[in-house]
Amino acid sequence: MATRFYNTLTRKKEEFRPIEHGIVKLYTCGPTVYSFAHIGNFRAYIFEDLLRRYLKFEGYHVIQVMNITDVDDKIIRDANKMNLSIDKFTIPYRNAFFADLDALRIERAEHYPSATEHIPEMVKLVKTLVGKEMAYESDDGSIYFKVSEYPKYGQLANLNIDSMIRGSRVINDEYEKEQIRDFALWKGWKSEDGNVFWETEFGKGRPGWHIECSAMSMKYLGPHFDIHCGGVDNIFPHHENEIAQSESATGEKFVNYWLHCEHLLVNNEKMSKSLSNFIYLRELLDKGIDPTAIRFTLLSTHYRQKLNFTDEKLDASAKSITRLRDFFRSLEGCLVDSKPELSGLIDNARKDFESSLDDDLNISEALAAIFSLIKEVNVFRQTHKLTKLDAENIKRFLNDIDTILNVLSTSESELTKEERNLIESRNIARKNRNWLDADRIRDVLLAKGIILEDSPKGTTWKRKIST
Ligand code: AMP
Ligand code: ZN
Repeated sequence: MATRFYNTLTRKKEEFRPIEHGIVKLYTCGPTVYSFAHIGNFRAYIFEDLLRRYLKFEGYHVIQVMNITDVDDKIIRDANKMNLSIDKFTIPYRNAFFADLDALRIERAEHYPSATEHIPEMVKLVKTLVGKEMAYESDDGSIYFKVSEYPKYGQLANLNIDSMIRGSRVINDEYEKEQIRDFALWKGWKSEDGNVFWETEFGKGRPGWHIECSAMSMKYLGPHFDIHCGGVDNIFPHHENEIAQSESATGEKFVNYWLHCEHLLVNNEKMSKSLSNFIYLRELLDKGIDPTAIRFTLLSTHYRQKLNFTDEKLDASAKSITRLRDFFRSLEGCLVDSKPELSGLIDNARKDFESSLDDDLNISEALAAIFSLIKEVNVFRQTHKLTKLDAENIKRFLNDIDTILNVLSTSESELTKEERNLIESRNIARKNRNWLDADRIRDVLLAKGIILEDSPKGTTWKRKIST
């Protein structure tokens, strides 16, 4: 089956065909590094991770770009307040962002360009737009895009351009649909900007937010590329403006497929400063919540559905991961050397998994295919021994799907020396039939999140996924 994605631009599911055979060029709007990233941001990045990993699973070579916004109104305000250069101010948040990506096992993109390192590219783009009379300079030295000159304006957000107030302008990077106005490509220097400015042919100033993504996406992916992603809040004005300025500058189509994930909610409400209900990933990790449980929670709801983040969802995710890991481990023991009997079952699970993700990344159905295979194999094992070949085949399938889910491995949770010694002491206690000591040590380990499982072949351990 062909892969299909819901394209915000056309408002329908479309078959995915890359511009260049076998290659996917993907741009994903990245963080503004003026604070730590919250779990809503990570919902977007995990959705993009799923997309990227699935495309690779399907055999595509993916080239992904994620920008780092390291200059904007909020950064300038906060850096000036703290008397720091924007560089000094943003670096810790930038480093934290990459550490958070690793904690959530998000695969790295090919490029993470920073806005401040691409000022010449942005200036060049603005110059082209001014040259084409699609942009003009205002009294304060800022340069605005002339929305009325771009007839397709409003196509992505499905807006009626007639409602705009011609000639009126907006300097803010974020504004509402009701306020369609000419928007700032370049912002002239104001005294509150302090030392933050670039000296250019337009005079002292700095770029607007929207131009950043156009300049950097086109630099790394070319003027026309395959997929552009973000959260739904990016549709307007950010992505609408990106299309307008890019297509006006190049005269060609900018992006073929626009994919947007719905919001993550907390207590069924949008996270916002006024409700003080922001949850930063770091807070959850500091509480000892297992990052794979967070990853699974953010991953397992379809990206175009709202996701209400709750403790119950984290618990359910921990259970699902435990089930997957236990099942995988169980494939090691009690095997027989006869001909395979489950090939049909495994092939069907693989087909269902792929066709679900082919259908606009339907992850819930893809997961259902995996868990129903586990159930059926367990039913089979009630009356039969698993053959070595079947076990190998199932393991291959689980390892393949884990290149997307990335929750099976526990490599980051090796035993500490103390934990190893405790397990050793308990083994000795059991050998000496000293059950009291053996039980006591088991409880000590359990309190540390290590679960022991005794079997005729010996004792194995696993780490509890804490939520
Ligand atoms: P920002 O740093 O606000 O520009 O956001 C970075 C990315 O996170 C963008 O793709 C946003 O659309 C996305 N995003 C922000 N808040 C949420 C949320 N509550 N749920 C899902 N995605 C979000
Ligand atoms: Zn962007």
